[in-house]
Amino acid sequence: MDNIFKIDLSGAGRDAAPAENDVVIVGAGPAGLTAAIYCARAGLKTLVIEKLGAGGQITVTAHVENYPGIESITGAELSAVMEKQAKNFGAYFAYDEVVSVSDSGEFKVVRTATGAVYKSTALIIAAGAAYRELGAPGEAKFKGRGVSNCATCDAAFFRNMDVAVVGGGDTAVEEGDFLTKFAKKVYLIHRRDRLRAAKVIQDRAFKNPKIEFVLDSVVDEIMGDKTVEKIRVKNLKSGALSEIAVSGVFVFVGLVPGTSFLNGYVELDSQGYVKTDIEMRTSREGVFACGDCVAKDLRQVVTATGDGATAAYKAQHYVEKIKGTGYA
Ligand code: NAP
Repeated sequence: MDNIFKIDLSGAGRDAAPAENDVVIVGAGPAGLTAAIYCARAGLKTLVIEKLGAGGQITVTAHVENYPGIESITGAELSAVMEKQAKNFGAYFAYDEVVSVSDSGEFKVVRTATGAVYKSTALIIAAGAAYRELGAPGEAKFKGRGVSNCATCDAAFFRNMDVAVVGGGDTAVEEGDFLTKFAKKVYLIHRRDRLRAAKVIQDRAFKNPKIEFVLDSVVDEIMGDKTVEKIRVKNLKSGALSEIAVSGVFVFVGLVPGTSFLNGYVELDSQGYVKTDIEMRTSREGVFACGDCVAKDLRQVVTATGDGATAAYKAQHYVEKIKGTGYA
């Protein structure tokens, strides 16, 4: 990968995760990585805990074209640079799943699936969101055998085949467009008569002759023997059922916030997103949240990084207040 930011990408981050930290950041998507860059650069002892690999959902995005300053980059490349920036500023990383958070005196205590316990003065929740399941019969049975949530990962398996994409948001329409680089034809199935996706994304898809839109329709069942062979689609206006022969079904029907580990620790909205104020403060003192797990309307890389910087700045002030090292 080119060194697009002209910084040292040798990856100076240290490996051993300290048990006691100024800040623990849960999640290493663009929000968490930005918070890590800002916290570590401000001289805070910063630990990022990530259950998968750094980058979060953006790693499965083929084409990021609306992050200011970069005309086009893959999500994986963008997040790899962010991770190295955070490491170069001295942030520590632990690859483990956070299962609970609690308070102990002035410390926030984070416990992980492997039994590790990490303490910090401030906590930043950047746990992101995962793809929502469709809930159609056959979806679970054919997961990894034709049903996918990642066009970047799986598109090449469907070269010259017909596939279906389900959903009408930015992800479905953008990834449907991307899939036509490999697939012979993409059926885009959406439950309404129009798409939710941004106009620029829609316009590109409407111009793509390899996409056929199947609107006002839902997937009733995903069928096949060992792998996906066809889907049954129900037209919601007429009630008519029809079958479409496809080898793959890409499901992009929205997100579920990764906040179940919080278990009442901070206030969530009715859909499970973390409630924050404009400074990314949660309902609990010293706990901040940023990125896709936060209750808000616009979930983009640029809003995640903006949130992450704000959360880090407020966390820095909180740590300085607690330690008595602040300027004011
Ligand atoms: P989304 O915006 O929530 O869209 C989900 C889509 O799935 C909606 O069209 C929804 O239909 C449909 N849906 C939900 N449940 C369904 C079900 N059970 N059966 C059938 N259809 C169902 O989710 P997203 O597209 O993953 O995007 C998530 C966030 O990331 C958004 O904020 C988006 O703007 C952002 N994003 C941005 C970009 C970009 O800027 N380039 C790219 C990707 C994602 P309804 O419309 O009827 O609700």
